[in-house]
Amino acid sequence: MLPFKLVYSEKYYLPIGEHIFRADKYRLIRELLLRQHVADESDFLLPQPASQADVLLVHSPLHISKLMEGSLSPREELEMEVPYSPRLVDAFLLHSGGSVLAAEQALKDQVCINVGGGFHHAFPDHGEGFCMLHDFAIAIRSLQKRGLISRAMTVDCDVHQGNGTAAIFGTAAHGPNVLPSWSGSPGAPQQDGMTNGPGNDVFTISLHQENNYPVVKPASSIDVNLPDGCGDVEYLAWLDNALSSGLRQFAPELICYVAGADPFCEDQLGGLDLTIEGLKRRDELVFRAARAHDVPVMVTLAGGYANRVQDTVAIHANTVLAAAEVYQPAPGAAHTA
Ligand SMILES: [Zn+2]
Repeated sequence: MLPFKLVYSEKYYLPIGEHIFRADKYRLIRELLLRQHVADESDFLLPQPASQADVLLVHSPLHISKLMEGSLSPREELEMEVPYSPRLVDAFLLHSGGSVLAAEQALKDQVCINVGGGFHHAFPDHGEGFCMLHDFAIAIRSLQKRGLISRAMTVDCDVHQGNGTAAIFGTAAHGPNVLPSWSGSPGAPQQDGMTNGPGNDVFTISLHQENNYPVVKPASSIDVNLPDGCGDVEYLAWLDNALSSGLRQFAPELICYVAGADPFCEDQLGGLDLTIEGLKRRDELVFRAARAHDVPVMVTLAGGYANRVQDTVAIHANTVLAAAEVYQPAPGAAHTA
C-alpha cells in the first residue's frame, strides 16, 4: 500500500481515435502499477466530474457553452487538435474533477497523484494542443474559493511550455523571470537576470524546450527555455535552480507538479534528450524540494508521446515510484490505528 493516494477512473480514456496522444496510457499505467505491486486497489480514489461552478472559476461562460452545445467553430476544433464529442467533454470534466480531488487529498497526505490531467495548453476562452479544460487551474481556483489554500505554485516539466497556465495566472507581480538563455556552461545555471519579489497568488514555473510548440509563450513567473538536445545533467541543474529560485521568492501552500513524460529522448513531439532514469530523478527532485519546504504536492501527468507507448507508461509509473520513495514513512515510525 502506498503512503498516498492515486486518483483514476477508467473513464479517463479520451475518445479521440487513432492519435499520437495515446489515450489508453492512463489504463496502462494503472495496470503496470498493480502488476508490479507498486500499488494495490485500495490506493486508488475515484474522481467525480468537476462542477460547472468550479470550471467557471477558470473558463469563460462562452467557452463552456460552446463545449456543452457542441458549437465550436471548425477553426476552434482544429486548434484543439482532438476531435470534439460530448464524450470528450465528459472525459475532460472528469480529469478536472480528478485534479480537484488530488489537490484536496494532497493537503491531507502531503502528496497525491492524479493518473490523468495536466492539460496546461487550455486557455480561459479556448482549448488547444490536445487540451480542452485546464484541470489543475480549476483545482487551484476551487481550493482557493473554499479557503483551503491561498497561494499555489505550478511546476511544469512537460517538454512544452505551459502557455495556458501562464495566461490564466499571469506572472509574479514584479514581472517574469526568464532564466538566461543557454550559455554553454552545462550544469552551471546562472543567476543573471533573475528578479526577486513577491508573486501574485499563483507562481508559475515552466521548464520546456524553447524550440517547440507553443510558438507564442506567454510569460510564466519563471520560464526556463531549454535548448534542443538538453540531457539529464543539464536539465536537472536547471530544474534545481528554478525550484530554489521559485521557493525563495514565493511560499506556496500547494505545488501542482506537471510531470510530462515528453522530455524523454525518444519522444515524437519533444526534442530534449532525457533518459527514463533522468526523468525519475527529476520527479524525485521535485518531491524532495516540496518535502523539504513542507509544501503538499499534487501531480498531473500531461504529455508523453514516446515511440513505444510502454516507455511513456514506464515514465509515468516511475513518478509514482519516486513519490513512494521520497514519502516513505521513516523506518520504525509508529503506525497509527
Ligand atoms: Zn507536452
